[in-house]
Amino acid sequence: MNDKTILKGMIEIYQNEFMCGYDGPDKDELRIIFLELIVHATQYINDFRYCSDPKCPCSPEFGIGKLMRDHGQKINSVLFGGAFGLSEVPMRPIRDFLNQFNNEGDDEVDGSTNE
Ligand SMILES: [Zn+2]
Repeated sequence: MNDKTILKGMIEIYQNEFMCGYDGPDKDELRIIFLELIVHATQYINDFRYCSDPKCPCSPEFGIGKLMRDHGQKINSVLFGGAFGLSEVPMRPIRDFLNQFNNEGDDEVDGSTNE
């Protein structure tokens, strides 16, 4: 599954399963998280960047990683957990795509550059 298909799947799950199918009390909070994930994934997949450093806080890698660190449990289990049972979009590749960023920016120790 290529990255563009991942993004298409995320948007379809947001618009269909989540907006029409999710009715939890935290829907407003999850909706913002979901939208931010889609924005960062769009930047990443299209290489829309402010600078070239993938560790920079302005990078889409950092943005997705931060969302995954702060809300990974809900993202993996609710947004892309397959609990809605409707989607034809496989959720597993989407979770794998998002989770690869989980450690980005985590290691602040960087001894490789001395400038
Ligand atoms: Zn930057």
